Amino acid sequence: MTEFTGDYFYKTFTERSSDLYPDRYTKEYCDALAEMANRAAKLITEKNILLLVHNYQYPEIQELGFAVGYVGDSYGLSLKARDEKGYSTIAFSSVEFMAETAKIINPEKKVLVPTRASCSLVESVILIKILKWKEKNPTGKVVSYINTDAKTKALSDFICTSRNASKVVAHVRTNFPGDPILFLPDKYLANVVISELGLKFGDLDIWDGSCYIHKELNEETIDKALFDHPNAELLRHPECGCTQECIITALRQGIKIEFVSTERMITKARESASQEFVVATEPGMVDRLRRELPNKRFYPVSKKMCKHMKQCTLEGLLECLEHDDDPKYQIILSKEILDGAKVAIDNMMSII
Ligand code: SF4
Repeated sequence: MTEFTGDYFYKTFTERSSDLYPDRYTKEYCDALAEMANRAAKLITEKNILLLVHNYQYPEIQELGFAVGYVGDSYGLSLKARDEKGYSTIAFSSVEFMAETAKIINPEKKVLVPTRASCSLVESVILIKILKWKEKNPTGKVVSYINTDAKTKALSDFICTSRNASKVVAHVRTNFPGDPILFLPDKYLANVVISELGLKFGDLDIWDGSCYIHKELNEETIDKALFDHPNAELLRHPECGCTQECIITALRQGIKIEFVSTERMITKARESASQEFVVATEPGMVDRLRRELPNKRFYPVSKKMCKHMKQCTLEGLLECLEHDDDPKYQIILSKEILDGAKVAIDNMMSII
């Protein structure tokens, strides 16, 4: 593996994304980051750890992921956690629920997480309300988005991701006709499902949750970004706050509005003839897109970063790799929760 240098980090991050991270990448800080990245890479190799890095993480952590691990979206990284053999430890640089998902899929492995960062979708769930819904709807099926904690997953019948939510709901409707469905926690993703499957708004019980970052990516902010960049194509994540207006517009005008997961954004931008894109998701993804497709231009709808995702730092990751035996960095779940959540994830995997 080639060594990281402060010069490389400084040049790369300032040229590529100084608009996203103004004042963050001084030469001095890049020197320190390069030194930490080299130490982290050495530990990952020596300790034979599978490193998984989410698309919204800081650029220096993504660079480390590309060098000695994997970078991707929640679902893609879960598959890596399942399919990559030969590792007894996984380090997940992301929010806690993603590391929990890796643990549920790999209960025999040690799963490390540098910080117990939450997520506004996770925080919107109240377990007792799910239990009450189940009591009222004994044949009901709970479909939970992967952005939920392990306890919520254990109370669910199916898990879904932004890539496959419609497919999972369609499967439940076909195989359990007439059974009520509770879709949680993202109401905007639920709107996309309703639109894609041609359902009515009353056909699903929808949880009133949302991501505080994507919620602000609404019709107004997206229109403004498209006005500023009139030649740009739109890449829009299904958690965005514009989904209801979009669906109403789509129904009225008879047009199809496309929503894409973060990984699909890369494929879509690569395959498109467009040279410019407005990106409606957390802006960490904009840096990833610029890295993948340096000859195209990407503009964020908003530069507001997720405070949960950005709790993960290279400093914190290094600490966690150095002290991988410390339980404070390990995901520990009871057998009951692991087993319950695994059934819901397996139910999703069996459909895909
Ligand atoms: S951007 Fe942050 S708050 Fe929003 S879904 Fe992702 S982790 Fe949760």
